[in-house]
Amino acid sequence: MTAKIIDGKKIAAEIRAEAKLEADELISQNIQPCLVVVLVGEDPASKAYVGSKVKACEETGIKSIKVTHPAGISEAELMSEIDRLNADNSVHGILVQLPLPKHMDEDAVTERIDPSKDVDGFHPVNVGKLSIGLDCLTPCTPTGIPEMIVRSGIEMSGKHAVVIGRSNIVGKPMMSLLVQKGEKANCTVTCCHSGTKDLAYFTRQADILIAAIGVPEFVKADMVKEGATVIDVGINRVDDATKPRGYKLVGDVDYASVEPIAGAITPVPGGVGPMTVAMLMKNTIKAARMRG
Ligand code: NAD
Repeated sequence: MTAKIIDGKKIAAEIRAEAKLEADELISQNIQPCLVVVLVGEDPASKAYVGSKVKACEETGIKSIKVTHPAGISEAELMSEIDRLNADNSVHGILVQLPLPKHMDEDAVTERIDPSKDVDGFHPVNVGKLSIGLDCLTPCTPTGIPEMIVRSGIEMSGKHAVVIGRSNIVGKPMMSLLVQKGEKANCTVTCCHSGTKDLAYFTRQADILIAAIGVPEFVKADMVKEGATVIDVGINRVDDATKPRGYKLVGDVDYASVEPIAGAITPVPGGVGPMTVAMLMKNTIKAARMRG
């Protein structure tokens, strides 16, 4: 059996094209969707993520404003900046790039953002709304995953989805999304984590297996049921002297051994990664619509 390769780049391009049409429609109503991305410090990975978000905005017709601060900015100054952005009616989405420098309380900063502008979907109000099935802004990475599955022609309703990982940005919101009623959900959900005993016992029961662990090539073929849909959220750098950068990116799934038995699988890179930015565009449009 050869797995269907779920092409995240292609699906993300489709979603971004849809977001552009929606942005154009809002612009024709004199609403210019606007995302402010706040970057604190010089972390190269954060800079790269912010750069790709700004570029995606340009391509989608969303106005983007990049606000940069030195790593030494005080939490109070950052809070004032967020207050100013919350009060600015021309700003629809606010994203503070994480991680923040150690002297800042990330939870407090996240909670300062107006929930209706929280395009990362991390504010406790949005987390609570998601868990009780209310319409809200939901975290970009897990929100993109049902989109990829359904747009690849794979039915989700009634399937057993097993999520490995319980982080607040991927694992937990993933569970909340999958368990809701609806075409892009309605799954029976199991969540596994570092405290799970006999992990493979659970993963082998998965019709849909979602790996968000952060350990390179952790999921091996003997942990996967034949024909399962395997979604690899992991982005891990591993040393590779043959690459100009000296490293390559691999997922949390051992692609070479799992692909031959899976029914469908996402590659790394080119799977879940591109979807995250596409869903951020969708969330910004949604925030702009909600505000008008
Ligand atoms: P995290 O470190 O916050 O959480 C990892 C989770 O894996 C934990 O909940 C832990 O319980 C679980 N875990 C760790 N070791 C385990 C083990 N041996 N057995 C079972 N469970 C175990 O990580 P995260 O932020 O959720 O990210 C996970 C991965 O996804 C990382 O590789 C990250 O880079 C990647 N990621 C990708 C995107 C994207 O856009 N594609 C976005 C966010 C995160």
